[in-house]
Amino acid sequence: MSSEKIRLNTEWLCDCGGCHVVLVDLHEKIMNLFESVQIQKCPVLTDVKDYPEAELGILTGSIRTEHDRHAAIEMRKKCKTIIAFGTCAVYGGLHGAGLAHTKEEIMDHVYKKSPTTKTDFIPSAEVDNLEKTVTPIDEVIDVDLYLPGCPPHPHFVFEGLSALINGKEPRVNQETVCGGCSRTMVKTDVADIKGSHEGMPEDDICFLSQGYICLGSVTLDRCLSPCPNHGVMCTGCAGPTMQILTEPTRDLRTEVSDRMSRLTKIPAETIITHIEKSAKTHYAYAMATKMIGNKPTFLIRKWIADVEAA
Ligand code: SF4
Ligand code: SF4
Ligand code: SF4
Repeated sequence: MSSEKIRLNTEWLCDCGGCHVVLVDLHEKIMNLFESVQIQKCPVLTDVKDYPEAELGILTGSIRTEHDRHAAIEMRKKCKTIIAFGTCAVYGGLHGAGLAHTKEEIMDHVYKKSPTTKTDFIPSAEVDNLEKTVTPIDEVIDVDLYLPGCPPHPHFVFEGLSALINGKEPRVNQETVCGGCSRTMVKTDVADIKGSHEGMPEDDICFLSQGYICLGSVTLDRCLSPCPNHGVMCTGCAGPTMQILTEPTRDLRTEVSDRMSRLTKIPAETIITHIEKSAKTHYAYAMATKMIGNKPTFLIRKWIADVEAA
C-alpha cells in the first residue's frame, strides 16, 4: 500500500440512510480505515455538492429520481472503483415493492392518505420527479463490486473495504443464512402454514419444519444470520443467492416450497400459492432487479408490465 491516502466519495440515492450509518458501526475499526482513506464527499459528514476525482466510490440506494440517476452517473465518471453498497444499490431494495403501484398511487398514498406522512398537498417544484420504477444501479452504470445486505454487516464491510484498500480481490462469501443458523431441520407432521405472528415457535427447530416461511436457505449471508438465531424468520433482506439469481428455472418460491414440503406435511403447491399471494413481502428486497423480475413469477411480471404501461 502506498503512503498516499485513498480518496473516497460516498453518495446516497433512494434509500433509508442505514447503509451510511453502518459505516459508523465499524466502531474502532473505522480508525484503521481512516489511516489509509481520505473521505472527500460523504452526505452524512461533508457538505460537498460536486463530485471530486476519487479512487473509491460507495453508492448506497437505488435509482428512483432524476437526481439519483444524475448522481450515479457523476460518481461513475469520477471514481475509479464503484461499490454498490447495500441491497437497495445491488437489487433495488425493499422499496422495489413499489413496482406493484404506479408512481401516482404512491404519491397519493404518501402525501394524502398515510396518517403518518400526509400533508394534503403533493409537492411538485421542490421535489425531483419519481421515475416509473425503482432501478438497481448496475442497470444505469458499471459496478465493480457488489456488497448486498440491508445494511451489510460491519464484518463484511470491513473485510471488503480492507481488501480493496490493500489492492486485493475481496472474498466473495457464497454461504446462505442457513449456514450460520443454529436451528435444525427435522421432519414433522405440521400440516398448515403459520403467519409470523402466530403461535410461539420452538427455539432449536428450523422454522420451515414448524410451518413458518423462512427465506434463510435462499438468502446470501451478509449478516451473520441474526434473525433466525433470535427467534425471527429470515425475510431475505440481503438478497437471493447466486443460484436463485442466475439459474432461470430456480426461484425462491420453488426452492422454499420444495424444502418445506419435504420437512412437513404441507403440499408444495400450497406453499407456492402462499408465497405468491404475499409476494410484496417475500420478494420485496430484490424484485426490482430484472434477474428476479424476469422469473416465471406471475405477479411480479404483471406488476412491472402494468407500471411500465401506465
Ligand atoms: S439496503 Fe437497507 S439499510 Fe441500506 S439503504 Fe437500503 S433499506 Fe437502508
Ligand atoms: S430455513 Fe431459516 S430456520 Fe431453517 S435453518 Fe435456514 S435460516 Fe434456520
Ligand atoms: S432478514 Fe435474513 S438476511 Fe436479513 S438480517 Fe435477518 S437473517 Fe439476515
